[in-house]
Amino acid sequence: MKIGCPREIKPQEFRVGLTPHAAREAIGRGHDVLIERGAGVGAGFPDADYEAQGARLVDTAEAVFAEAELIVKVKEPQAVERAMLREGQVLFTYLHLAPDPEQTKDLLASGCTAIAYETVTDAAGGLPLLAPMSEVAGRLAPQVGAWCLQKVNGGRGVLMGGIPGVGPAKVAVIGGGVVGTHAARVAAGMGAEVTVLDRSLARMRYLDDVFAGVFSTRFASSGNTAELVAEADLVIGAVLIPGAAAPKLVTRAQLKDMKPGAAVVDVAIDQGGCFETSRATTHQDPIYEVDGIVHYCVANMPGAVARTSTIGLGNATMPFVLDLADKGWRKACEDDPHLLAGLNVHAGQLTHYAVGKALGIDV
Ligand code: NAD
Repeated sequence: MKIGCPREIKPQEFRVGLTPHAAREAIGRGHDVLIERGAGVGAGFPDADYEAQGARLVDTAEAVFAEAELIVKVKEPQAVERAMLREGQVLFTYLHLAPDPEQTKDLLASGCTAIAYETVTDAAGGLPLLAPMSEVAGRLAPQVGAWCLQKVNGGRGVLMGGIPGVGPAKVAVIGGGVVGTHAARVAAGMGAEVTVLDRSLARMRYLDDVFAGVFSTRFASSGNTAELVAEADLVIGAVLIPGAAAPKLVTRAQLKDMKPGAAVVDVAIDQGGCFETSRATTHQDPIYEVDGIVHYCVANMPGAVARTSTIGLGNATMPFVLDLADKGWRKACEDDPHLLAGLNVHAGQLTHYAVGKALGIDV
């Protein structure tokens, strides 16, 4: 099969859909891989790395879209890309159609088959193509939180790990899922005193079994949350209620109970954020202050570490890309119900129930 990978054109997107190693695997199985020149540069993969694996470089996105039967990307196709999609072509990428009627209309009109990373499932009930980005955002959160705590950034001037004779920072992580667990591990690794708050007893039992002695857990009642937020130097927001906006767990009034110069990293901002005072920011201008509390609310944190994110995402997508290329989308989806769960659009029809419900379109 001809697999194409165009350069991402969404502003501030440096990731790429196929790594040179993914290209190598596909080529090794007899597929033809087309890469738009410069596609991997933002993630640290020069054109020569793809050529060395046997990929064909083409000059334009038009050339990729014209020839490829399977297009592998990172972000949802932009309007100019959607105009190039055609009937019978398979698109495999993040789509996030539910809040995006414009994109949905164009994908339906194109006649293409679109499989969305974010709705592919796994046997454990997880979302395997979202998990690597949650791992990245979680591990990045204490790193940016530590930066926010520096005095010149408006922070309290507290070092995460303290020093001999001076105590460490206190970190509260609200939500102990993928983001929260990775955030807690890294914060603890930096030497901070970390507590994870969650509402799932099963999840806290798991965390306690695996991480006892590294960080502690508390049930996320509003009282416990208020207490730990007031004591914290850094609070990391990492909750998720699938399919819903993040619950507001810390009110503006509670900021007054916090230590002046404490920091908030609201990773859940892509679902609206779990602090009443959160509003989405960008990598160019990532922080702002409310009532003396530094807020970091970047909605696409993994973009800051495009190379790690690209490789992590590529590890997760590669088996599906190979399956789609080896078998064709229909057989691949027949054989794997988890890949089928990713099918959002086919031949002018919306094929995902939850996405259709959100958009008010019959499936
Ligand atoms: P997850 O489902 O693995 O974990 C969410 C956790 O929140 C679960 O353990 C759940 O029990 C807990 N929770 C739910 N309600 C709670 C409450 N009221 N109090 C305390 N805990 C509660 O989800 P995840 O993959 O860790 O993602 C967390 C959030 O981070 C999501 O909104 C996700 O979209 C977001 N995210 C953001 C970025 C970014 O760049 N900003 C990147 C990746 C993920």
